[in-house]
Amino acid sequence: MDFKKCERCGCFFVTNSSVCPKCEPKETFEMQKFKDYLNQNISLDSIKDVSINTGISEKNLNRFIKKSEFSNLMKQDTSNIKINL
Ligand SMILES: [Zn+2]
Repeated sequence: MDFKKCERCGCFFVTNSSVCPKCEPKETFEMQKFKDYLNQNISLDSIKDVSINTGISEKNLNRFIKKSEFSNLMKQDTSNIKINL
């Protein structure tokens, strides 16, 4: 077991996930929302637009797209999807 710093709120906790138990439901909810958004939108302009459309903060979106499940999603059609990092 490791002490980890929650990527959302910054508190310290002991678990294997990257966010604390308090933030976990919101993290799961927002990742699902982002996944749905990626599935529905063929062309993405920028993280900022995704943030405006989903209500998820840019900071969290930047974190999500680093996860392998999202990089796979976004590679499905890279000719149409452009995210400016
Ligand atoms: Zn937290």
